[in-house]
Amino acid sequence: MSELAPYAVDDGNSRGRAFIEPRPKERSEFQRDRDRIVHSTAFRRLEYKTQVFVNHEGDLFRTRLTHSIEVAQIARSIARALHLNDDLAEAIALAHDLGHTPFGHAGQDALNECMQVHGGFEHNLQSLRIVDRLEERYGAFDGLNLMFETREGILKHCAPARARELGELGKRFLDDRRPSLEAQICNLADEIAYNNHDVDDGLRSGLLTLEQLEQLSLFARHAAAADEEFPHMPGRRRVHETIRRMIDAQVTDLLAESARRIAVAAPGTLADVHAAPPLIAFTDAMLTENRALKGFLRQHLYQHYQVLRMTTKARRIIHDLFGAFVDDPRLLPPQYQEMAATGSVVRATADYIAGMTDRYSVKEHRRLFSVGEL
Ligand code: MG
Repeated sequence: MSELAPYAVDDGNSRGRAFIEPRPKERSEFQRDRDRIVHSTAFRRLEYKTQVFVNHEGDLFRTRLTHSIEVAQIARSIARALHLNDDLAEAIALAHDLGHTPFGHAGQDALNECMQVHGGFEHNLQSLRIVDRLEERYGAFDGLNLMFETREGILKHCAPARARELGELGKRFLDDRRPSLEAQICNLADEIAYNNHDVDDGLRSGLLTLEQLEQLSLFARHAAAADEEFPHMPGRRRVHETIRRMIDAQVTDLLAESARRIAVAAPGTLADVHAAPPLIAFTDAMLTENRALKGFLRQHLYQHYQVLRMTTKARRIIHDLFGAFVDDPRLLPPQYQEMAATGSVVRATADYIAGMTDRYSVKEHRRLFSVGEL
């Protein structure tokens, strides 16, 4: 690792783990966090969870797993270039979507509707719940016992009522303070990753067309640059040459603007970062282009009738499963019955459903609702 900036998070200025453990011998504390996340059950489940396209729709589309790996790659590059802790950035990125339900945002919205009168469901909070409580891997504690700053980075946003229940971790939302720069990086690396890979997946699926995309200045500009360097490139290569230029432009813009803001704010310590305004940011010009790209994807991809059909089906599956388990908790697997008996039936049900992969939830739906299925 290159020399860390004085305001980067490191083992020395970290607020540490809730359960005190001996320091790792050959790794840093944040490398250990990353390793724990990679070995978790929730991480493996990401392979079979939807990003935009349901897992069985094609083998080449992004899943939550490949999305998380792309976010980690982008976050690590940015962190390293700014002399920040790239191990922490990687750990946060790999964990940021652990709490996602099956079927992407449609699944999360449906589960949130089911949980509305019971405090709601939010995938961001669920990611934290997984690393703090639900993973069962260690004799000495529940969850993964991650470092404070890894957990802080996972909890991107939080309503005030919830923040009050979360003690030290929730405090920054009440005091209006910023998380580490490493956490701020992951937030924007997430955006860079999905905006660009959704263009790629959208084209691959045929739901988006090149003609539509050429109307976006960000895409058109980089497609023109690709054409100039490599005239007569066949279709797929041209798309990749364009998208890699878009990612590069966004990362370069983010690095320059963040370096500028850091120079102006001149933080001396991590505490200064918490008190400063957001220091990791795009320029206004890139922000405008990113908004246009997001709006475009919402209109042409996320609300495409073929995607909406999947979304509607997904909502039905989640509502049906939730209703069946809450009506009769004896239908839950024993482990979740136990959780229901010691906690609440609805929360145990939400934990069970949120942990399902796309295909598992479809199977479970069939087992509960179709006669002749075991
Ligand atoms: Mg994400």
